[in-house]
Amino acid sequence: MSDNPVIILKPGREKSLLRRHPWIFSGAIARVEGDPTSGATVEVLSFKGDFLARAAYSPASQIRARVWTFDPSQLVDEDFFRRQLRRAIALRETLVPAKSFPLSAVRLVYAESDGLPGLIVDRYGATLVVQFLSAGAEYWRETIVKLLLELTGLSQVYERSDADVRELEGLPSRVGPLSGAPREKLILHEEGLQFHVDIARGHKTGFYLDQRLNRQSVRYLARDLDVLDCFCYTGGFSLNALVGGAKSVLSVDSSAEALVLCRENVTLNNLPAERHSVLEGDVFQLLRRFRDENRSFNLIVLDPPKFAPTASQAEKASRGYKDINLLAFKLLRPGGYQVTFSCSGGVDAALFQKIVASAALDAGVEAQILEHLEQTPDHPVSLQFPEGAYLKGLICRKS
Ligand code: SAH
Repeated sequence: MSDNPVIILKPGREKSLLRRHPWIFSGAIARVEGDPTSGATVEVLSFKGDFLARAAYSPASQIRARVWTFDPSQLVDEDFFRRQLRRAIALRETLVPAKSFPLSAVRLVYAESDGLPGLIVDRYGATLVVQFLSAGAEYWRETIVKLLLELTGLSQVYERSDADVRELEGLPSRVGPLSGAPREKLILHEEGLQFHVDIARGHKTGFYLDQRLNRQSVRYLARDLDVLDCFCYTGGFSLNALVGGAKSVLSVDSSAEALVLCRENVTLNNLPAERHSVLEGDVFQLLRRFRDENRSFNLIVLDPPKFAPTASQAEKASRGYKDINLLAFKLLRPGGYQVTFSCSGGVDAALFQKIVASAALDAGVEAQILEHLEQTPDHPVSLQFPEGAYLKGLICRKS
């Protein structure tokens, strides 16, 4: 054993660790010995004194420690991070064709799901965008950046540590270049399409990489259809519908900046601009307006922002999902498709399906599920950390 500070759990509270769940809540801790600083490595022991894990200490958070390793022989040092990062990157190389990997936009590291709690690394071609979202990831920041350069052979790294969760960890928000002089405005390549991305000001790290394959599903459905893309952001689904031969695509978002990029993305790909229009506004209101105007569509995408980060907000979120799904079912023509998502961690796939079912019922609509959708495999889910599964979607067909 090393001379790390130590966390001793209350009796019985070792159970989740024995199941290899990586979070240790403050309420599970009997005492802390050795005065660890924020992000420092601690040994986690059961009440009886058995070794359970090595973890990063986070004094400000309810999640008081996040496990780096359950293996007593494994130290948490540069070699540890090299191994974990190498493994995460190797997985992505199997998911994206080698030929396109240098250009691809892909999530290289997905935090807990890759055994690296609080660390997100997205690759946009030759630029990496990194988020350090836990005290532990923050503590190892310089080592991680150095290793990312070593393992990817790239030189441009940008930091987007400005997610709300940093606050829960007692960390300030931080945005800016970490290595090289990365351009803030990039063009990413995804499944034959290109997108303008603003890695400094865009949402998350700039783009919703988790929807890559789901956008493909829309591409294959869209031929000759009138498509309404709600919460379109920079047009991920809209462009796929256009390239798939949609008759018309209407892209709706409340963000004027996102809609500017959406239009630019249509032009960038030489897609038929005459079949595309954008509308700035609140989807909740616009769907009502379209209903009052008797407008209808053959395919509606609903990809709203997170309504419920945690289970405690699930009820309010459910009302939001039900509202937009009910309205959209009414706007769909018979035989039309509703491609509907939730990225709320607090709403699981079973609950989401119930909400959509009750929306169809109240809309007086019969519909079938054709496909269950989820986040793309570069956002894998550890079997021991089901919280990593947050994106769920359904393709429904109205009778
Ligand atoms: N479908 C997109 C990602 C959607 S992210 C893609 O594939 O890239 C959610 C989007 O919803 C954001 O662009 C945000 O600006 C927008 N948004 C949030 N609340 C909204 C509202 N009430 N009405 C319209 N758009 C909203």
